[in-house]
Amino acid sequence: MNEENESVPWICHVCGKKSSTGVGKACSLCFKIACDAHIKPLPLKSEKFGNLELKLVCTACSENLEGLEGEF
Ligand SMILES: [Zn+2]
Ligand SMILES: [Zn+2]
Repeated sequence: MNEENESVPWICHVCGKKSSTGVGKACSLCFKIACDAHIKPLPLKSEKFGNLELKLVCTACSENLEGLEGEF
């Protein structure tokens, strides 16, 4: 039996929205799943190369980032 079309239900850890359509996107920082409304690509500095890379970051983490950047 081939089950390639299985849909894995996921829950956004920010708003708790459940979905089984598509695949939830994982935050690059906390590795939790978030829905489209709560995850967005942000330019983050790569520790390896020191350049900016677009990474998917959830709103919970991006709020923390903005707070940190304000200190510098
Ligand atoms: Zn959400
Ligand atoms: Zn996150």
